[in-house]
Amino acid sequence: ERDGDCPPAAPRRANAGSLLPVVGQELRVPLVGGGEARYANLDYGATAPALATVAERVTRVLPYYGSVHRGSGLPARVSTALYEQSRQALARFLGARADDEVIFTRNTTDALNLLAGAVPEGAGDVLFLDSEHHANLLPWRRRAHRAVAFAPTLELTLGRLRDALAAGPVALVAITGASNVTGELLPLERIVALAHGAGARVVVDAAQLAPHVRVDLEALGADYIALSGHKLYAPYGAGALVGRRDWLDAAAPHLAGGGAVREVTWEGTEWHDGPARHEGGTPNLLGAVAIAEACNTLDALPAGALEAHDHSLRELLLARLERLDAVRVARIWADSSAAIGTVAFAVEGYAPAHVGAYLSAEHGVGVRDGRFCAHQLLGRLGLPGGALRASFGVGTSADDVERLAEAVERLVREGA
Ligand code: PLP
Repeated sequence: ERDGDCPPAAPRRANAGSLLPVVGQELRVPLVGGGEARYANLDYGATAPALATVAERVTRVLPYYGSVHRGSGLPARVSTALYEQSRQALARFLGARADDEVIFTRNTTDALNLLAGAVPEGAGDVLFLDSEHHANLLPWRRRAHRAVAFAPTLELTLGRLRDALAAGPVALVAITGASNVTGELLPLERIVALAHGAGARVVVDAAQLAPHVRVDLEALGADYIALSGHKLYAPYGAGALVGRRDWLDAAAPHLAGGGAVREVTWEGTEWHDGPARHEGGTPNLLGAVAIAEACNTLDALPAGALEAHDHSLRELLLARLERLDAVRVARIWADSSAAIGTVAFAVEGYAPAHVGAYLSAEHGVGVRDGRFCAHQLLGRLGLPGGALRASFGVGTSADDVERLAEAVERLVREGA
């Protein structure tokens, strides 16, 4: 079958032991040796499947699908109300402050580019670690910036950040909440305290963090947060930038066009303030509705359930992989074990693309291979040719993880 052909869904077979139902849990894939297997999706870090609740909500909204903020018919009015309610749901989920702005974007990349265009000129440099995903690295290179090289321990890395903050005016520290490569968590409270102590703001790239760890922006004190719906079980093409409104209201619109303007004349343009200023063009209603539903569903989980699910799966995989001499698990910091359900590893003697293809074709297990949009980090970890990454989420079960472990064990034992 060609990749673009989607075989009809097989009869529903739950992925027992997963935390929440997601769409596609019952997907079956053909195996090279013959037969088929339930697809074990261990690539949530790239894009997470839709929560069943999200798919149901989107299906219910579709009949009312109309143009947001444009139109007086019922669908347009319902769509406008739903869009604005979705903004509020996201603000609640993230613990946004009352006067924070919630701007819908396409994804995290878009959100961080928006913020890069809003850092006031002359306010100081943007600081970031060289371990960041390209989305939280390349936008800042367009501004006055300094990249701080991560050190082998978190403590030393924080020391380097402190020194960089003291070395000259800093407007913004751009930091990921969790590494998209190794899953390691950053001590955000300490980083916010360091940055604020030096008069700098903080933006958290929560593309990986938000699907795994509950974030309370107000309690954390970070100034901005960026995320992608498609990594948060809402794969309908929306993301968000949430945070302090002064820079955002003073900045040139991210997207100039309809919806962003109050008045247009030949003489000039009067831009809106508030989220509309940066949301030019017809908004992505389904994306916003999907994010809101995902937030509400995750919010209803008992406290700590997400983290406990992640932790048990991660420990299970690490215990199996670390027994294998030919497997190297990638870690950035020697002094920290806090991490989300993401594990990067390399198998000695095999190119990551080869292992990825073997896992998919022979075992029906989907992981990611490559350099994960973090070329500098992979290089500094001694993996310039890339690695494999298994990433879990609420639809993952211990069975999925065991299938990956067994497949890697067989590869090491028998070759491929
Ligand atoms: N930041 C991190 C940590 C990521 O893992 C990713 C995506 O993998 C991004 C940013 C970019 O997200 P998107 O491609 O949805 O814009």
